[in-house]
Amino acid sequence: MSYEIEKTEAQWREQLTPQEYHVLREAGTERPFVGEYTDTKTVGVYSCRACGSELFSSETKFDSHCGWPSYYAPLAEDRVEYIVDTSMGMRRVEVRCATCGGHLGHVFEGEGYDNPTDQRYCINSISLTLRPAENG
Ligand SMILES: [Zn+2]
Repeated sequence: MSYEIEKTEAQWREQLTPQEYHVLREAGTERPFVGEYTDTKTVGVYSCRACGSELFSSETKFDSHCGWPSYYAPLAEDRVEYIVDTSMGMRRVEVRCATCGGHLGHVFEGEGYDNPTDQRYCINSISLTLRPAENG
């Protein structure tokens, strides 16, 4: 697998904080309800904190009450990639940044949330950077 943006682990460690590195490069998970964007309603675009690729829009963010920022769709399907993970005895679909391979979170579907796709992209705040929209 190759990505448009590739760096050595040492370069990532230099660029990212230890917490960011743990989530983005080691597929860690931040604790629920503590992430800076869990309840954010600000209008804008969420980019990958590692490479800056635009990943999610505030338009698709919804209140899932699961403790992490949740979106019902990515900004565009080619911005993310999906990795099926069955390692924990259940099928989970990991979501990664398609540009740098950074771990973002997981996507779940069919949970009955009242949104257009019935999907929940459960994303770590620390994997994202919010760029608020300019509003005059
Ligand atoms: Zn990225």
